[in-house]
Amino acid sequence: MTDRDHDARTWVDVPPGSSFPLHNLPFGVARRADGSVGAFVAIGDQALDLGRASRFLVGTAAADGLLDDAQTLNRFASLGRAAHGEVRDRIGELLIDRSARAEVQPSLVAIDDLSMMMPVAVGDYVDFYSSLHHATNLGRLFRPDGDPLLPNWRHLPVGYHGRSGTIVGDHATIARPHGLRYAPCTSVPGTNVHGAGDRVLADGPTEQLDIESEVGFIVGAASAHGNRVAPADADAHLFGACLVNDWSARDIQSFEYQPLGPFLGKSFVTSMSPWIVTLDALDDFRVDPPEQDPPVSEHLRTTGPTGFDLNLEVLLQSATMRERGIDAIMISEAGFADMYWTPAQQLAHMTSNGAHLRPGDLFASGTVSGPTPGSEGSMIELTRRGERPIELPDGSQRAFLHDGDTVTLRGWAGSDPTTRIGLGSVTGTITASRTADATMHDHRTHEEH
Ligand code: CA
Repeated sequence: MTDRDHDARTWVDVPPGSSFPLHNLPFGVARRADGSVGAFVAIGDQALDLGRASRFLVGTAAADGLLDDAQTLNRFASLGRAAHGEVRDRIGELLIDRSARAEVQPSLVAIDDLSMMMPVAVGDYVDFYSSLHHATNLGRLFRPDGDPLLPNWRHLPVGYHGRSGTIVGDHATIARPHGLRYAPCTSVPGTNVHGAGDRVLADGPTEQLDIESEVGFIVGAASAHGNRVAPADADAHLFGACLVNDWSARDIQSFEYQPLGPFLGKSFVTSMSPWIVTLDALDDFRVDPPEQDPPVSEHLRTTGPTGFDLNLEVLLQSATMRERGIDAIMISEAGFADMYWTPAQQLAHMTSNGAHLRPGDLFASGTVSGPTPGSEGSMIELTRRGERPIELPDGSQRAFLHDGDTVTLRGWAGSDPTTRIGLGSVTGTITASRTADATMHDHRTHEEH
């Protein structure tokens, strides 16, 4: 399905520049208008209902009803790349075959009529730190007196285990997290605090709520305990890619993170986009990653084009902008192609101690930042921790996120807008801090409208 001529051949009306042309065909899970849930494949502004279309998928992994009422894609993901490719190819043929149109068309629904849900139940979530530019920028901000890169950084893809239970889908509301952080005395009304000049350590809502623009990869086929997956074999264990916004509370993070890494500054919520773009769809956009110096250990070494030419954007809209009908503005534009550590190396590293992979595991790239101003994938970098705030068209400024702010990540592969493979988008909106409030379940199945 990498033949771009297919686009012109499909009988589906795909708008020019759509994220989901015929050579994409990403998988997702959605709630239908009647309340039932199933698996879908996106094409243009529409999606093929794999439950309703299952009789056309005979002879593929989707024929046995696996996807009819799937609440998640985990079982399908577990079948491995050949099975995913077979189903995707068959769907591509159906959408080209004009003689099938009358029969297949009733199984197409407008994406706008669906409520997108979490595509997989994420078992384990690992977040890496694989952009040289991001790690350097953040190292300078967090440890201004030391080498921005710690000694391990060029020898292995640094990562940590995140909290999979707080991963949410599109259009989630993000309650401003609380935690222990140093804050200006003026913003801490309580007592029982420990002073540090004009700043005090106190428990309260974060004043440095941030985003991290990342690319996530979903594990398909499992691996056996005790077995290392070599970088060259990593693709066989990947289902596909999505966008990840790893929301972060910088003040909480910077107090808690040494020596064991991020914890509550990251674990409150992580957003992932609803459509999983397969590696087959991204095949035309593979690129050679940057040279690694010094050379890495044999078990992490790769050859050939193991990077991906992806483009990421971050858009921000305040509540005031929304009320006044002012469009979101783009605050960051970054490329994924020069990530120092590739997804294959990240997957190999995750299994290099013998830890096994399970279908639906998610690992994210780490913040994707470029070398130039405006290409940083987080606000702490974009604003130099508040020194250079972002000017919004409503007249306000942002060092970090305010309540009511909406952030959208968008991503796609390639530079030609007519042949883009879109990763879609993922949006989240900040709400005022609150204490215990059982809204997380709602997030996981949040309705798009
Ligand atoms: Ca991150």
